[in-house]
Amino acid sequence: MKKYIGCDLGGTNMRAAIVDVESGGVLHHMSVPTLAREGQDDVMKRMAELCLQVIQSAGMDKDEIGGIGIGVPGVLDLEKGETLFLPNLEGTWPHVPLQRTMAELTGLPTVLLNDVRSITNGEWRFGAGRGVDTLAVFAVGTGIGGGLVINGQLHLGIGGTAGELGHTTIDFNGPVCGCGNRGCLEAFASGPAIAAMGLKAVTQGLTTRIADLCEHDLNRVTAKLIAQAAEGGDEIAKDIYERAGFYLGIAAANVCVAVGPRRIIIGGGVSRAGDLLLEPIRRTLRERVTVMPIEQVEVVRSELGNNAGVIGVACWAAKEL
Ligand SMILES: [Zn+2]
Repeated sequence: MKKYIGCDLGGTNMRAAIVDVESGGVLHHMSVPTLAREGQDDVMKRMAELCLQVIQSAGMDKDEIGGIGIGVPGVLDLEKGETLFLPNLEGTWPHVPLQRTMAELTGLPTVLLNDVRSITNGEWRFGAGRGVDTLAVFAVGTGIGGGLVINGQLHLGIGGTAGELGHTTIDFNGPVCGCGNRGCLEAFASGPAIAAMGLKAVTQGLTTRIADLCEHDLNRVTAKLIAQAAEGGDEIAKDIYERAGFYLGIAAANVCVAVGPRRIIIGGGVSRAGDLLLEPIRRTLRERVTVMPIEQVEVVRSELGNNAGVIGVACWAAKEL
């Protein structure tokens, strides 16, 4: 069977991987800086070159490749194959015909998919979501991305826009989110939101080792550093993860009631905190969800790490092309 290229268009780097879609194995991969400030045409040109290079450096021929899937960080129109709004890329890419341009530049059929829906598909096929037909993914990092698999299908909704679980409202009077809504999960439990809780604790003079760990340079307070403090027994830091997990648990409770997932997968950089974050999610679900069998819902960490997106979008390309 032909191999597929999974491409990840990131704000900082872009990556192309040759994926065996039957095993989920990444056979070869390459990465270059995105250099988004040079403009969309330049970025697309270099992405096409990267795809052709990865084929060559794997010692393969183009006719062994079935097509390209591109994981894109933002809002897409899947029907038109266009980007609509990529908040992390210079110019935000309104109505850029990414699918057609990449197909023309590479001579390979191409499909697009949102980056976290790509991760969702990868974790479902070959990672923490194997073997279940309904699941939800929360990818907790700089923002909170999401994705849903419902009844054995990656759930897309209008133009592929469904599954933005980071933008479910958990406090209708809450702070304004980057998306313009108030009180989104992302405004409460993303990496920067967790860091902000740590910063606040330090500036309020609470007894915590967070200030020591960042050597009193408050610019260095991150979710990761707070997790370190919590693992060392710092009660304030543990409490911050309790709160972040509680907020995620509230959003997850809403998802459970809506779609009845067998598994909730927590990914992204912040998920490295492990049970610090996952235990309060599980507890909140048990306390809050009464109308479906919540004890049958597993809350687990993602398994595929940085490869989830390229594997998932390559599998998507294999299915769609
Ligand atoms: Zn939002």
